[in-house]
Amino acid sequence: MSICYLNGGFVPRSEARISPMDRGFLFGDGVYEVIPVYGGRAFRLDAHLARLERSLAGIGIANPHSHAEWADLVQRLVAAHHWPTQAVYVQVTRGADTVRNHAFPQDLPPTVFMTADALAPIPAEQLERGVSAVSAADNRWLRCDLKTTALLANCLLRQLAVEQGCAETVLFRDGFLTEGSASNIFVVKNGVLLAPPKSHLMLPGITCDVVLELAARHGQATEVREIREEEVHAADELWLTSSTKEVLPITQLDDKPVGAGYPGPVTLAMIDWFVQARREECGA
Ligand code: PMP
Repeated sequence: MSICYLNGGFVPRSEARISPMDRGFLFGDGVYEVIPVYGGRAFRLDAHLARLERSLAGIGIANPHSHAEWADLVQRLVAAHHWPTQAVYVQVTRGADTVRNHAFPQDLPPTVFMTADALAPIPAEQLERGVSAVSAADNRWLRCDLKTTALLANCLLRQLAVEQGCAETVLFRDGFLTEGSASNIFVVKNGVLLAPPKSHLMLPGITCDVVLELAARHGQATEVREIREEEVHAADELWLTSSTKEVLPITQLDDKPVGAGYPGPVTLAMIDWFVQARREECGA
């Protein structure tokens, strides 16, 4: 049975109820986090809680919990499920109002919801062969650095990939790479790892930071700079990162092979470094 946390208590997820007047439901007025858990331990919890704090501040919701309280709630939710590997979802909305009004109501208690699901290991075939992706124009708003629940544009963009039997949509704005519909994107060219600089046009991914940290630790040449669309199409290697997909090779983009069409040496090294890092940090 799946247990969730809602506004102060742990209840079976099938019994949890929120008001249809919740601004999360009416306006997508909320923020969220997805935290991977390995061997019962949350990976990079501090970074996720810091990003949650930043997203809340970005849309003007007071953080309902201290860092220690969040850490305790995450731990209790994880302990309520037997899966060693989980994804914890945390959502905070501006709360349930009495009328539908765009303007923020005063003194509304936020709605806090947390749930966990088993996190399946990445299928070996996907790691060995990579996945396919399509590209599209990034038509989202200009605060993609905030992890808000208003994800309709991301869903529509992801659906483009799904309809073509692909795993992800790689996004370009004004001819430059931003990110994926639910991931960050890395390029390898002539042995150099390329990543776009953080800005309001992309989510500052926690996994993205881990990858940049691991590249530095292992002496991998890296350039953080704007990446032109043509450079992505001419990449030797391409991969996506996210908290649930870790480091996943993209070996086909818009029906064309990326490089040789299979995961390249830098990608394979990064997957190894990543698995090693999360084992070191979570002991699993
Ligand atoms: N960009 C977007 C748009 C995302 O939704 C996500 C996470 N799902 C990411 C990047 C990756 O972020 P993280 O590594 O923190 O999961």
